Amino acid sequence: MQPLSGNHKQQTIISHCLHNASLPHSLLFSGLEGIGKKTFAMTLAKMMFCKNNACNTCPSCLQIEHGIHPDVIVMGPNDKGTIPIGNDDEHEGSIRWLIARISLAPVNNCRVVIINDAHTMNMQAQNALLKTIEEPPHNNFIILISSERNQLLPTIRSRITEYVFNPLSQEELTAILVHNGVPHEKHNAILAVASGSASYALILSDDTLYAMIVDAYRAIVNFVIHPEVFSHDLLPLLQALGPYKTIDLLINIFRLHCGNSFPSLPWFDSYLEEETAVEIIKILLELRRGLSHNINIRMALKGMLYSLCFSYYNKRDTLWI
Ligand SMILES: [Zn+2]
Repeated sequence: MQPLSGNHKQQTIISHCLHNASLPHSLLFSGLEGIGKKTFAMTLAKMMFCKNNACNTCPSCLQIEHGIHPDVIVMGPNDKGTIPIGNDDEHEGSIRWLIARISLAPVNNCRVVIINDAHTMNMQAQNALLKTIEEPPHNNFIILISSERNQLLPTIRSRITEYVFNPLSQEELTAILVHNGVPHEKHNAILAVASGSASYALILSDDTLYAMIVDAYRAIVNFVIHPEVFSHDLLPLLQALGPYKTIDLLINIFRLHCGNSFPSLPWFDSYLEEETAVEIIKILLELRRGLSHNINIRMALKGMLYSLCFSYYNKRDTLWI
């Protein structure tokens, strides 16, 4: 098995359970986006079928890697960002399709189902999966992966064995940046905003994306400090990264304002007060919660920033009187 960066304790415990034939049949890997949850789930699937501990070169490891292993099902959100319950058993990639599929015996001795971004199942889809989570068909292992565990129904969470994955350390992230050939002079700026996530660190190593995130941050700061018209267009960033990653990265930046020491980043606006940064983070968190209800994030952000400025300047004027 190739060791993955970080979360060695979790990996060791789960591998140990597998070797002792005591692995729970329903598992949840939770934790921040981009810290190796899905990568480890894939490695675990390889370990189940590989005779050489997830060697990455045998036929079954390669089949799993290429998504064509008959007994490994990897699911995730569709192009609308959700995992649908589905109209019938024929609706491939839906929960009803999955339930019908795993009711059939596996080709080999067991089957692994990996459901990535499991929180994108709506309530009906989660309820439909509940019984399967509680009692998976014989020799089926179901692994849910989620960076939003609170959006999973309590009834799901109480029937599943959860392993919480931790953010990666600066050293672990640096090793990943070096491995991916990111120039050393960019590391500090990337690590400051990545907040322990390897996938965010790699997103930020793209100069264009980094500049887009910084532009969005500056537009919000400028608007709050000098409120006129919030005309910044978030759409290109939302299209490039999707809403969750966009909001997360903005939250990571505004969190840099909360604390005693500011990062030495040329674009960082140290005039923004911590109190205001906290209010902006609250707005972003509220937007994030609203994503599961299909809110229009651009309109909502604009409206909430206007409200923030209104209360901020009202308060300031009151203090001056
Ligand atoms: Zn192998």
